[in-house]
Amino acid sequence: MAIMQFAPTALKNMFKKPVTTSYPAEPAVYPERARGHIEISIDDCISCGMCVRACPCGTLSVDRNKGTWTIDRFDCIVCGYCTEKCPKKCLKVVPGYQEPGPDKTPVTYTKSPEVLAAEEAKRKEAAEKAAAAMAAKKAAEAAKAAEAAPAAEAAPAAEAPKAE
Ligand code: SF4
Ligand code: SF4
Repeated sequence: MAIMQFAPTALKNMFKKPVTTSYPAEPAVYPERARGHIEISIDDCISCGMCVRACPCGTLSVDRNKGTWTIDRFDCIVCGYCTEKCPKKCLKVVPGYQEPGPDKTPVTYTKSPEVLAAEEAKRKEAAEKAAAAMAAKKAAEAAKAAEAAPAAEAAPAAEAPKAE
């Protein structure tokens, strides 16, 4: 009589909508808090490397000079630590999973030319300021040394004790 126990469930299911979808013919629907993959707003990134240090899988790398941020998505476990550590909040976990593939190819994001040019200008300005500060410091030290030298020459020599 076990069949009688399943009959109500079987009947109910006959009139319910299927719980499966026809993916990929139909787009996938992800739960609101699905941990799919990491996305970056690359132009907001300041290349500080906090995300790289926070990543437990060593899947991230940052090149400050080239303005790039690289992730190997096949190594990423979508733990979200990098998003928590990013001081600019330019990383986020979004729905949608990494497509399967035969190769582990890292993905590199590069800042826009405008942002790169602005960063380069800032670096140049900072280098010029640092060079000017160093030159001023050296000049001040030289002037101080020049002031001290004649004073030392003009000072009377210490008198030798007279022999009696
Ligand atoms: S989500 Fe986790 S594993 Fe993936 S890049 Fe960020 S810190 Fe690394
Ligand atoms: S922590 Fe954020 S700002 Fe810093 S390098 Fe990573 S993505 Fe860029």
